[in-house]
This record gives sequence, C-alpha cells and structure tokens, in this order.
Amino acid sequence: MSTCKGFAAAKAGAPLGPYSFERREAREHDVVIDIKYCGICHSDIHQARDQWSEYQEEAIFPMVPGHEIAGIVTRVGPKVTKYKVGDKVGIGCFVDSCRSCAECKAGLEQYCSVQTVWTYNARDKEGQPTYGGYSERIIADENYVLRMPNNLPLEACAPLLCAGITLYSPLRHWKAGPGKRVAIIGLGGLGHMGVKIAHAMGADVTVLSQSLKKQADGKRLGADHFYATSDPETFTKLAGSFDLIINTVSAQIDWSQYLDLLKLDGTMVIVGLPEKDIPVGAFSLTARRRSIAGSQIGGIRETQEMLDFCSKHNIGSDIEVIPIQKVNEAYERVLKSDVRYRFVIDMGSLK
Ligand code: NAP
Ligand code: ZN
Ligand code: ZN
Repeated sequence: MSTCKGFAAAKAGAPLGPYSFERREAREHDVVIDIKYCGICHSDIHQARDQWSEYQEEAIFPMVPGHEIAGIVTRVGPKVTKYKVGDKVGIGCFVDSCRSCAECKAGLEQYCSVQTVWTYNARDKEGQPTYGGYSERIIADENYVLRMPNNLPLEACAPLLCAGITLYSPLRHWKAGPGKRVAIIGLGGLGHMGVKIAHAMGADVTVLSQSLKKQADGKRLGADHFYATSDPETFTKLAGSFDLIINTVSAQIDWSQYLDLLKLDGTMVIVGLPEKDIPVGAFSLTARRRSIAGSQIGGIRETQEMLDFCSKHNIGSDIEVIPIQKVNEAYERVLKSDVRYRFVIDMGSLK
C-alpha cells in the first residue's frame, strides 16, 4: 500500500477537504497514473451528498469523488502491454468488472451483470473502497484505461471520460446523423458535449434550455436551434418534431411534456439522474408509438471510439480550470447552472 493525497467528503453533505488514504501497490497488469486533471461531474455532487440513497445499497465515506480522470503513466506492471511510462491516459466511471458475463464480453462493462467496480464510492473485488480522481494518483488494470487524444489539451479531454461518452453512446445507439432531428435538454456538462458530438455526427441539433441565456454559446457549440423551456410556446411550436431527445437534467421535470415533442417512433433517452422517480403519462407514449429509454456512460471499447472520434473532429470540452481548494465553490456553481461548461480541477494544486 502507498499513501495518496486527495480531497474527500468526510460524511454525506460535508464540504470536501484534504484527505490521505492508501492505494494498492501495482499488480502485474496494473498501470499507475499521475493524475493531472479531473473533471467535476454533477454525479460527484449527487454522490458526495448521498442523494441516490433510494437506488444505492450504501454510500462510502470518507468519499474521494472524481471519474473524469486524465493523467500520465508513471509506472506499469510487468505484464502490461498496451501502455508505457509517459503515455497520456484516462480513467472514466469504472475501474473493473467481472470480465466474463455476456455484457462484459460484448464490451458493455458498464452494464456488467455481476459487478461493475465504479471508480469511487464502490468496493473492489477484495471489498476495499474505491477512491476517485480528486487525488494525486490512481492505479487500474490496463484493460480499464483509455488512451487520450494527442492533438488536444489534456485538461479539455478529461470531461470526455464521463460527459463525452454519456452522450456519445446514446447518440450512436439511436443513430443520430444526417436527416435526424436531435434535441438535447439542459446545456450543462453533459448537454454541451451532446451538442458538439451530435453536430459532428451530422444531425440537426436543437437545445432545450431553461432560458435563452446560453443561446449564443449553444449556436457556437454547434446547435442549429435553441429554445427556452420556460416559454410555453416552445412546447406547442415543437410538438412532434424530434427523432431523438436526450434528457440530461438532474432535476424533476415533466417528462410527459417533453415526450410530446417526439415524432412517430421517436425516443427520449434519460441520462440525467434525479433523486426521485418521475411519473410518465401513458398517452404521450401511445399517441405516436414513442419510447422512453435510459443509457449509462459507455463501455471501454466505445469510450475509446468516442475519444478517437473527438480527436478526429477536434472536440474537447469547454472548461474552467480550478485549483482543488475551490471545489466546494465549484459545486455550488454547478447547482446554479453557472458553469461554462465543465469545471476541471488542476491536480497540481494538491501539492
Ligand atoms: P450539469 O452540468 O449541472 O447540467 C445539467 C443541466 O440541466 C444544467 O446546466 C441546466 O441546463 C439543466 N437544469 C438544471 N436544473 C434544472 C431544472 N431544475 N429544470 C430544468 N433544467 C435544469 O450536470 P451534468 O454533469 O451535465 O449531469 C447531468 C445529470 O446527468 C446529473 O444528474 C448526473 O448525475 C447525470 N449523469 C448521468 C450519467 C449517465 O451515465 N447516465 C453520466 C453522467 C452524469 P440549462 O441551464 O441549459 O437549462
Ligand atoms: Zn459523471
Ligand atoms: Zn461482467
């Protein structure tokens, strides 16, 4: 074991502060990563405040959040073949899985039917708590490590590891592309990546935001249309318009109202994770054979495909880099939708 410095929430809802903990020694297939940057995902806030208690068995404190981890390889185990010292690499939302179920074999480790080992607030196969990227170092099996784009700044690519893949995966699965009308609800960390990626895939992209405050940004990011959901006319004007809607909102919003914006056979994919269940009216589904679906990040293979796609299309995240001492302030700003469009922690500030 070796001591690792980081920032943790001591208990649910406590402000994050300095915390030292133990990381395992590198095993033969492990890669040791010096963390340079870590994005702040809204999920970090949900988890550090234990807001998913209705859906999770336990929340483990002290909790070191962070699953948009970008860094440099400093050491590799003797059996590692994919990475070498000095490589730019990343870790996303999980660091291991069973590796033998049908889902793992299909490259869908995020849906492992036995156990996906989440990057933090989880237990590894030995039952030890996992600690995330708000820390100086992380160790993981090479099969759960991603190769980062070489042509883009590393800090702008950290958020691709959760926000990027969470939007790329459903956009691919539901075939966003030329001739398809796609709407993204919420222009936050996830939403702004959705706009960039859907635009690069060739879809016609609409942003549905609470107000028109972010309209100029939305257009710059690649949106063809931008509407305020606070204006009731938006829902009459856009009724029956979209093939695909991706809902990134973490709050309780009226899903039935948004379902009415789908065309015949359209799908609304839920990726935002509110604290409580939301009722859905049957009529908004039956009226046009519409579907409601969910999607969770992406597997390792697809995450690498997304990173390569972003590299090819020059897509990074729009970020505000902060020292780790500002993390609690950043959380409050995320909650107020006051972020353009992802906070990224410069881990050099830990030293
Ligand atoms: P974020 O940066 O806070 O973005 C969420 C956006 O939703 C806000 O920017 C805002 O956009 C909109 N919004 C916020 N409050 C709202 C309200 N009361 N009513 C309507 N719209 C509201 O968060 P994020 O990091 O993108 O994460 C979004 C959600 O996805 C979180 O619940 C997170 O846990 C979840 N998540 C899920 C996955 C997955 O695999 N499924 C992965 C990562 C994150 P406007 O200002 O444009 O309205
Ligand atoms: Zn996330
Ligand atoms: Zn599995």
